[in-house]
Amino acid sequence: MADTSLTGPISRGLRGRCPRCGEGSLFRGFLTLRPRCESCGLDLSFADAGDGPAVFVILLGGFLVVFAALITEVLYRPPFWLHAVLWLPLILIVTLVPLRLIKGLLIDLQYHHKAQEGRLHFRNDE
Ligand SMILES: [Zn+2]
Repeated sequence: MADTSLTGPISRGLRGRCPRCGEGSLFRGFLTLRPRCESCGLDLSFADAGDGPAVFVILLGGFLVVFAALITEVLYRPPFWLHAVLWLPLILIVTLVPLRLIKGLLIDLQYHHKAQEGRLHFRNDE
């Protein structure tokens, strides 16, 4: 029976590890994928997270920063330069840190669910 638990793929994905063996690293650079797993040799050319990681980062990070800025403005009314000092570093943190985590997670989940690009199948019975 196939393993349907998601704890393995989620754990491996968040650590940026190979979806098959969990040992080799997915990444060669910050976000660049390796062509193959250095441990088991899995061809990683199937991996295509597309815009998924960026979308999740924009939605989550945007909510956090805008919510924090609005609460701060309503409660304390700080000068605009203080908004810039507070929120620019927070924007960098909430976008760059989770981007790699989410990309690894989506790729490992793609492998786990055998997700791939849709294809058209034509019937020949007409
Ligand atoms: Zn591997």
